[in-house]
Amino acid sequence: MENFDVAVIGAGPAGVTAAIYTQRNNLSTVVFEHKLVGGAITTTTAVENAPGFDSIQGPDLGVKYDGQLDFLKVVKKFESVTSIKKSGAAFELATDNGAAYQAKAVILATGSEYRKLKIPGEEEFKGKGISFCATCDAPFFKNKDVIVIGGGNTALTSALLLSEHCKSVKLVHRRPEFRGEAVLVQQLREKKVEFVLNKAPVEIKGDKFVTSVVAEDMITKEKTEIPAQGVFINVGFEPLNSLAKQVGAQLTPEGFVGRNERMETSVPGFFAAGDITGGMANVKQIVTSEAEGCVAAASAYAYIKKASMKDINY
Ligand code: NAP
Repeated sequence: MENFDVAVIGAGPAGVTAAIYTQRNNLSTVVFEHKLVGGAITTTTAVENAPGFDSIQGPDLGVKYDGQLDFLKVVKKFESVTSIKKSGAAFELATDNGAAYQAKAVILATGSEYRKLKIPGEEEFKGKGISFCATCDAPFFKNKDVIVIGGGNTALTSALLLSEHCKSVKLVHRRPEFRGEAVLVQQLREKKVEFVLNKAPVEIKGDKFVTSVVAEDMITKEKTEIPAQGVFINVGFEPLNSLAKQVGAQLTPEGFVGRNERMETSVPGFFAAGDITGGMANVKQIVTSEAEGCVAAASAYAYIKKASMKDINY
């Protein structure tokens, strides 16, 4: 069994930042990631609100995170943590390749997964015209008619990217106002993306591949069938909280991991940071995740050294 001071689970902005701080504080640190370093940002397009970068593609920012972990000699394990339990003062972790690890403190930064619409056709046509990631799949829809579902920043940035590839893009949203940023809405208008508002999708139809989305008007309840060869579902994310449940950490009613301002959960030595906490004041941005990662690292340091937060001088 390999031993570390700190195990960080998840290598998105929160986890990477936490690892940078713990490793630089001479705490031996392992980061577990089951996909790519960068986490959810590797599935986004242009990031224009990360200080230091006018504009950087999400996957490129992930590569920069990865390089920084290597520069600091943080141990990276591309394995999925499948179980965690507290054993005495330490935590024991097992991964999907059968390896076992021990750590004095754990920082959970597992983020979230794509929320599903849970409507007929969604599972059936997944990968057959339905995608949750425009960054990953946009080139497959060159010169096709596509629909993006959602009204947050993910849906808006997806529609923008798709407008570069596709014959037509319709943005279907269940309300008249968008949750996402006004600047993106303006860019979509300039790209002539059609807004289909006040309509909630109720079914995705197709034969071998997707052929249409049936959407219901939120007021009149009238149903409209909108033809499309591609459907991008971008309706938010659900917290990946199974490890928090295993270790007995308290969750919020929405399923996020409860934590105080020091990122301490209800389990001593088990900290949480990033989207898994529901965000800082409900804001889920790269910089807020990074901030939570930094604070979680400081708290892990204090916990391991049995120091007071006042003694930590960042
Ligand atoms: P989000 O902000 O939670 O938005 C989800 C959208 O999906 C909302 O517009 C919501 O409608 C809609 N929706 C939810 N359930 C639905 C359903 N069953 N049927 C139809 N529509 C449904 O999620 P997100 O856009 O994925 O963004 C998540 C976080 O990441 C946000 O904080 C966002 O700012 C951030 N983000 C930032 C960037 C960036 O800055 N570059 C890029 C991507 C994401 P309502 O509005 O009616 O609730």
